[in-house]
Amino acid sequence: MSEDVEVPAPAEVVQSQLTKFKLSLDAEIPYRLVTVFAKISGWGAKGEIKRRAKLIKQIEPTLKKMLLPKEEVLYVAKGTQSSTTEALFMGAYWAAVLNQTVFVLTNLRILMLRSKSNGKPTHTFWVLYYSEIDLFQPNWSGAMKLKLKDGKNLTFTGFPKLDRKAMPTIFQEALDNYRKLGFHPTVSQSRENLCSHCFQVVPKDRYVCRSCGSDFWTPKQLALRSLIFPSWGDICMKHYQFAAVELIGYLVSWFWAISILTGPNPEEGWFVLAMIFIFAHPVDGMLTYSVAKKGLSPRHGPDEARALAEQSPETDEEDEELLEAEEP
Ligand SMILES: [Zn+2]
Repeated sequence: MSEDVEVPAPAEVVQSQLTKFKLSLDAEIPYRLVTVFAKISGWGAKGEIKRRAKLIKQIEPTLKKMLLPKEEVLYVAKGTQSSTTEALFMGAYWAAVLNQTVFVLTNLRILMLRSKSNGKPTHTFWVLYYSEIDLFQPNWSGAMKLKLKDGKNLTFTGFPKLDRKAMPTIFQEALDNYRKLGFHPTVSQSRENLCSHCFQVVPKDRYVCRSCGSDFWTPKQLALRSLIFPSWGDICMKHYQFAAVELIGYLVSWFWAISILTGPNPEEGWFVLAMIFIFAHPVDGMLTYSVAKKGLSPRHGPDEARALAEQSPETDEEDEELLEAEEP
């Protein structure tokens, strides 16, 4: 790795720095302080420590519920998952706002939390085991590229330079540990969706949590809503600010069409109306589908009956029929 990554300071040194800046972390969460605070001395260290502690504070209440026994936090950083489609159709600003993601690197896995710009988690979460990553690499432009075992590629931008240096090192160490321990977790997809309520894995293409019975919007349900009425899908996904901006734009285009229709050249108004239906509706439907496909959007909260139904063998009926067919 790069030569100017600092030699980690002992935990006591980090702790004394935190105390000096009047920063305290939740004592119930096991942090490996020497890696979480990778830079504790030299130019810019104070700002760096404060910035990181502030980000950690935002996620602590959620993180406490997500961590497993004996799971230790090694690093916390925030970046933006980049999406060319979204940047193209909703603008780079909104694509960045909607794709803020906090990374929590632990000794077992990488947790990803969709967040607001200040790092406060929203409602979409993922887990990624280190063994599911083929490549975890910062590239020349400052982006962080993740190539996953199931063929998916994720690109994150907006990580400060320090994070781009520190994260691959931690990743490599964790992977070496996996090899030593022979740890090969099985997954339904490389980056698994986590339930927004109980943080258990919700397997690929499932939209009900087996553990707590919470259910989630399917991308189709959301896309259809946006197709019928632009911004409807975004409201369901609780992207209220974006939905409001979109709704205003949509209403303005209608207002424009109607004002032309009632004017001296009504035929141009029909053209504007046609554009609304040919472009605005399908583009929003497509965009909603792309956003929804990335993670879970909660619909209803926990429900015991729904959890039982999801656990019942009937849900796996197709698999069982296949097995039965194989029997003599
Ligand atoms: Zn759940």
